This record gives sequence, structure tokens and C-alpha cells, in this order.
Amino acid sequence: MSIQLNNPSLLQTQAFIDGQWCDADSGKTFAVVNPATGETIAQVADAGQAETLRAIEAAKAAMPAWKAEPAKVRAAILEKWHDLVMANQADLAKLMTLEQGKTLAESTGEVAYGASFIKWFAEESKRIYGDVLQGTPDRRGIVIKQPVGIVGAITPWNFPNAMITRKAAPALAVGCAMVLKPAAETPLSALALAELAKQAGLPAGLFNVVVGTDAPAIGGELTSNPDVKKVTFTGSTPVGKLLMKQCADTVKRTSMELGGNAPVIVFDDADLDAAVQGALVSKYRNSGQTCICSNRLIVQEGIYDAFVEKFTQAVNNFNFGNGLEDGSTHGPVITEKAMNDIHAKVESAVAQGATVVAGGKPKGGNGYFYEPTILTNVDSSMRVFREEIFGPVAPIFKFKTEQEAIEMANDTEFGLAAYFYSENLSRIWRVAESIDYGMVGVNETAISSEIIPFGGVKESGQGREGSKYGLDDYLEVKYICIGGINK
Ligand code: ADP
Repeated sequence: MSIQLNNPSLLQTQAFIDGQWCDADSGKTFAVVNPATGETIAQVADAGQAETLRAIEAAKAAMPAWKAEPAKVRAAILEKWHDLVMANQADLAKLMTLEQGKTLAESTGEVAYGASFIKWFAEESKRIYGDVLQGTPDRRGIVIKQPVGIVGAITPWNFPNAMITRKAAPALAVGCAMVLKPAAETPLSALALAELAKQAGLPAGLFNVVVGTDAPAIGGELTSNPDVKKVTFTGSTPVGKLLMKQCADTVKRTSMELGGNAPVIVFDDADLDAAVQGALVSKYRNSGQTCICSNRLIVQEGIYDAFVEKFTQAVNNFNFGNGLEDGSTHGPVITEKAMNDIHAKVESAVAQGATVVAGGKPKGGNGYFYEPTILTNVDSSMRVFREEIFGPVAPIFKFKTEQEAIEMANDTEFGLAAYFYSENLSRIWRVAESIDYGMVGVNETAISSEIIPFGGVKESGQGREGSKYGLDDYLEVKYICIGGINK
């Protein structure tokens, strides 16, 4: 299949190192597959450790001049990058839908969301301030902030654009250079971003993209190379833990945005329609494949039956199909393996007594489609309670008291996002303060944007992306003591 774009320069299939497009040293390529059809849509250079090392060396050579530029010079290039991303929004969205599966509407939205981080950090980087400390008779203390150094970034396939810009924009804005390893499932979106960065005038070596299937080889170089000062990762908790261990030998800074197990708690005093709508959006966005997707719907007994009924009606109107086609409300899941993993969790719940109210199996046919699924008669011993489902499956749990809901919400090693619906202001404060999550949506599940600090607690990670706090992840604090001032 050939990919038709308005701007053909966006279809890149080689690694991007030191401002050049290059094949893998081995000459090997790997297939990028459209999850809606199972078809191969491109062959991409299968780069590995040696190419990663070259990218790090290019970053090392490029960073000093970039770091020395005034913030507004760096910001101007990032602003141009943002404008080019938006000017090519339709092509970038098409590429994303082809390799990731999400609907064109979702891809179009993600491109704008991704671009918003570039603009935000271009603006925010001009506002990095230090401190002057209280003096002693002959000394003064000053605190300045400096770029952390070369950043290794590893990103997942579920947001092939925004998970990259959310890391690259703050890193580049403060004067760092980056070597990025995008997910092998979705390299085309990453490479298109690199092409646009090049067109925006970003100097060679500052943003390198190493595409390849040997993640341990690429990740191994990024985490062990002493010239890399920081690793930022979005992905699963097991891989995040592994990368943190690998980073320990050279004491690198890390930012980790890992798995979630988000509850949506619906209290009896909730606005039912708002709760149903919020839960639907949060559960089925990207066909359930976001780390802040609600994983567990936890509904109070007085409103439970009404909630299940309305939620089911809405789910029965979904149309899971090829994201490029009009009328598709949701796309496939990313791979056949992902589809089988989701099904295994559903089957295990059913074996333990869960009732399937909707869906419950793969759709069949070409592509990796899983039916939008609702489970009732579920409990906290089941995998669908304990594990991240990462698919269009909504288990709906029942609770009696507020305390029980808080305990259920906190009964997980994860702590990324949580949501709850209530119209009672006292309860809103109590519950928001009692649940152990980095982000809490109250009567709202669409909580993410470039202006908010995105990140988790517990085994969901560390560090924050977006907002003014997102810059700190790429800055070191340096204390300077000036002595002898009375000489
Ligand atoms: P998912 O299950 O969503 O694919 P992963 O954590 O496996 O989540 O993948 C997220 C990113 O981490 C991808 O870019 C993947 O290639 C990369 N990755 C997976 N394993 C490793 C590893 N051992 N070292 C470095 N990167 C890895």
C-alpha cells in the first residue's frame, strides 16, 4: 500500500541522526503494520546500539552552541516547529491513524495536543528564573538553573506524537539535546516530527530519532552512556523499573510516566448523565489504550443499575471500525497480541463469575478489533481490577460507603489519574485529598492539556510533564556562592 500525503516529505522511513536521514548499519528494515487492516504500510530502518551511540555523539557536539543561545532564539525555532506541525495537521493525523489505528478525529486532536506542548514550552522557557539568597557579611548566594544535558527519551505507541513533543519541547526549549527512541509500532509519526523540526531550522544533532525493534539495545545505550544525563520514559511499569535500574550505574536523572489503574467513582449524589458521559469518554478514548483511561468504574449501590443501563445504551451505539472511514467512532487495538491479552483478562473475569453485559470477544475479520465490553458482577480479586486493561473493557464495580470507595480506589500499586463524580462539596474535598493519585478529575475526565502537571505517584512514576513544573524535569539547580565581597 502506498501512503498519499499532501506533503510527501513527511513520509520518512530512515533513522534521523545529526540532521541526516540514514539507513540502519545492518541494512535491515522492519514492517509498520496498520492495526485496522493487518497490512504492512511501510518498511523502516531497523537501527540499534551503534546508531544510538552516533546519535548521542551528535547530540554532544550540538548541545553547547544551542545551550548558549538566548532562550528567545530557541523559542523562535520551536514556535516555527509548532506552526509547521499545525500546518501539516491533516497529513500527520493520517499517518497516525494508519500506524496507530485511532480515528482520524482522535489523531487530528492529538496533533493539536502535541503541538500545544511545543508552543507552551517555547513560551515558558523564557521565564526560567533563579534566586538570590540571603547574604552573610561577605558572601552572597545565587541559584541558577541550567539544562540537565543530553536527554534519552523512550516513548510508547498510544500517543505517537504528543508523548514525543511533551518531552522534546521542554528539553530543547531549555537548551538540551535529545536522542529519541519511539515505539517500533509507530515510528512514522516520530520521523515526520523530526522532518518538521529540521524544516523549522532546528540545528543538526539536537533532535535525533533512532527507530528500531531492538529496544533493549537502544535503551541499553541510552541508559548506560555517561554522556546521557537524563532518561525520560513513557510506557509500562515493568520497563520503567528496568530502565531506572539501568540508569542507576551512572546516576542519571529519570522521569517516568508509567502505568495507571484509574478509577471513576460515581457517588449516589452524582449528576448521572455527566458521570456516564465522563466515564464513556475516559474509558473508550483511543479504544481504552491511554494510561489515564478509566480502568475501573466504581459505582455506588443506589445509582448502580441506572448507571449500567445508560452506560450500556451508549456503548451499544459505538461503531468500532477503520479510523480513516467516516462513521468509525473508535479504532482497533494496536496488535493481535494486545487483543489477545485483553481477551485473556475478560475470560479470566468471566471464569471468576463476571457477567458480560456487552461485547466480550474479538470482533473477528481483518484488523485487531475488540468489541466494546462491559462487565458486571466483578470484584477486587479479578485481573480487571488489579491490572491495567489497556483495551475497550469496562468492569463496573459496586460499593456502599464513601470509605469503601476510597479504599477500593487506593487498593492498587498505581497512582496516575483518578476521577469521581459527586455534587457534594464537602465530599469533593474529602475524597480528592484521600485518594493517592497524581491527578484527580472531579466531575470531569478530560483533564489533560499542556498547562497541567501530568504525572503519577506510587508505581505510576515520577516527574511531571507539561505546565510550569514540566521544565524542572530538564533543569539542574546550581548554587553559586560569591565570597570576599567586602574586599
Ligand atoms: P507497551 O506495553 O505500551 O508497549 P512498553 O513499556 O513495552 O509499553 O513500551 C514503551 C516503550 O518502551 C516502547 O518504545 C518500547 O519499545 C520501549 N521498550 C520496551 N522494552 C524496552 C527495554 N528493555 N529497553 C528500552 N526500551 C524498551
